[in-house]
Amino acid sequence: MTHIAVIGAGITGVTTAYALRKRGFEVTVIDRLRYPAMDTSFANGGQLSACNAEVWNNISTIMKGMRWMLRKDAPLLFNPSPSWHKYSWMAEFVGQIPNYEKNTIETARMAIAAREHLFQWAKDENIDFDLVERGILHVYQSKEGFESGLKVSKLLAQAGLERDTVSPEEIPNIEPTLKGNYYGGFFTPSDSTGDIHKYTRGLAKACEKHGVNFIFDAEIHHITQQHGKQIIHYQSTQDPQEQGSLTTDKLVVCAGVGSRHIAKLLGDRMNVYPVKG
Ligand SMILES: Cc1cc2nc3c(=O)[nH]c(=O)nc-3n(C[C@H](O)[C@H](O)[C@H](O)COP(=O)(O)OP(=O)(O)OC[C@H]3O[C@@H](n4cnc5c(N)ncnc54)[C@H](O)[C@@H]3O)c2cc1C
Repeated sequence: MTHIAVIGAGITGVTTAYALRKRGFEVTVIDRLRYPAMDTSFANGGQLSACNAEVWNNISTIMKGMRWMLRKDAPLLFNPSPSWHKYSWMAEFVGQIPNYEKNTIETARMAIAAREHLFQWAKDENIDFDLVERGILHVYQSKEGFESGLKVSKLLAQAGLERDTVSPEEIPNIEPTLKGNYYGGFFTPSDSTGDIHKYTRGLAKACEKHGVNFIFDAEIHHITQQHGKQIIHYQSTQDPQEQGSLTTDKLVVCAGVGSRHIAKLLGDRMNVYPVKG
């Protein structure tokens, strides 16, 4: 049986491990932390949303980012101090602006498919993750913001997502705690919220039940190759003297912000595949 190692036990790694195991592969998940979903998948906003699939590669994002640099209460701040990584990333970001519409439609299509799998697996494995199926509401105070939201709704519709336009009068009917002056909003009834940390922990337990192995507290520092196999070398995060290795036929990198480091370790052995289906 082909053995596949999955690097990273966040939501991406654990769902990947589950899907691979269901397809009959022998799977080992390896992570530097002690439990699944302890990094970015630990405390995110909890939105299970296809309605937020609009990609950020847009001139207006850059203008917004520049305006925010002058505000103390900016929701996101860009630090302009020079770094090759940062500026090469920005060049890639700008390079994707011409693909804004295509990438938004494709991301929304993937988000809808991901949501279906997520719900189905929660049902199959009886995972409680505080799911609240009440839709997601976006509200706008300005005509300008609302009109750019209308354009996004059209792209989301092309991906198959229903997002309703709502009037200022309808907003408090959907969310009674909202009492401000709004120009309008959008409501996506099929979206929901849930605790993705709990979900990942639950799915990791299901993975174990189905025969997936997990190696925790293991920081990967080196990946070599021998006779067509990949050998992952790791060091215990608890005891630096403790080293280990895992031999695998293939590996999938789901290491979140650590993926760039793993890509460097793999060099030209790393392939990036476009996601289809
Ligand atoms: C503040 C905030 C709010 C967010 N809100 C939402 C939201 O509401 N809805 C939504 O859909 N998304 C949201 N997101 C995004 C979402 O949380 C992330 O996209 C998602 O958690 C990423 O999961 P991941 O599995 O790819 O990465 P991670 O959860 O970061 O997992 C990567 C794993 O790889 C491991 N790893 C990395 N390097 C190594 C190494 N060298 N050796 C061994 N292990 C390694 C790490 O320990 C980690 O466990 C939010 C993000 C943030 C920061």
